[in-house]
Amino acid sequence: MQTQIETAAKKLNIGEHVINILKKPKRVISVTFPVKMDDGSVQVFEGYRSQHNDAIGPAKGGIRFHPSVNRDEVIALSMWMTFKCGVVGLPLGGAKGGVKCDPTQLSTGELERISRAFMEAIAGFVGPDKDVPAPDVYTNPQVMGWMMDTYCRMNKSFVPGVITGKPVIIGGSLGRHEATARGCVLTVREAMKEMHKPLAGATVAIQGFGNAGRIAARLLSEMGCRIVAVSDSKCAIYKQDGLDVSLLERLKDEASLVHYNGATLISQDELLALNVDVLIPAALENVITAQNAGDVQASIIAEAANGPTTPEVDRILASKGILVIPDILANAGGVTVSYFEGVQNVMNYYWSEEEVNSKLEQVMVSSYAKVSRMAKEHSR
Ligand code: GLU
Repeated sequence: MQTQIETAAKKLNIGEHVINILKKPKRVISVTFPVKMDDGSVQVFEGYRSQHNDAIGPAKGGIRFHPSVNRDEVIALSMWMTFKCGVVGLPLGGAKGGVKCDPTQLSTGELERISRAFMEAIAGFVGPDKDVPAPDVYTNPQVMGWMMDTYCRMNKSFVPGVITGKPVIIGGSLGRHEATARGCVLTVREAMKEMHKPLAGATVAIQGFGNAGRIAARLLSEMGCRIVAVSDSKCAIYKQDGLDVSLLERLKDEASLVHYNGATLISQDELLALNVDVLIPAALENVITAQNAGDVQASIIAEAANGPTTPEVDRILASKGILVIPDILANAGGVTVSYFEGVQNVMNYYWSEEEVNSKLEQVMVSSYAKVSRMAKEHSR
């Protein structure tokens, strides 16, 4: 992240003091908290909230639950949030949080107690005018609801604006759940338009089948694209004439993607190396590395995940003529609709899904055009 800031700042003639401010987070909260597990034992969890910058508005960013969460990762992710909000023109800063845990091994009750305990530990530092969390890897509207409820109880008032990505019934925005994927798909549409390539029939490979990956698959197939490969943490599957996305979603919920009849099992690296029009990394950081970047054959990479490519990879991909739609643009749809959610909470007046989606489209289309123009200017 720091390398990226230096490279970009040099091109933009930004003062040394500004670069120095941006290279470090403003505040990092590090907590441990005990949680009673279902078997009666008490486990101590660690969590972090990094507030990178709040110069132009409250800090903003998700909270992830994942075994690999650590302080450095959360800091880097909070820095990306500052720039992400900047790219799409939101009056917000950047933050990120995480709890080191494995949600796949936790019961619903344990998840609820972890969510509530983490919010209790950071409650003094968050709030609608300070720092507003949201969902991220392995967290969802239900988790946001528990956290909001904890904050409201502590403050003895109804404060929906403390968190976004909430269930709609308690102040969530329509369209928020799909927003990250929808934003990503809109940037893919704009990129294809720019390259004079039709979306209909375009081949797509998606790495990661969580909130962003699976909804991107659905939206792109609705737009006529052929989803030829998808993967999750357990497996990757490939089918040249296209996978049926509804079937994929059903298998993911009820069993495993492995059970898709007629698809070939491939490795994660083979998926990344497929000769497709669009490759969407939609899981975690650092999946396209200096080791495998040379094998990538896609024409466009749309970074639905945060930080899936590293700085040295950028150079390799550029030399191969691959267009990378960077994470801070490609996945900015989520935080954009989070911002809309906060606005609706302040007004206590709620928009239709069509209204949310059309406002999101305006933001994504104009941001794509600005980034593309700037990229061309500075690559000369
Ligand atoms: N976690 C999402 C991201 O990385 C959304 C953040 C938000 O809505 O505040 O952009």
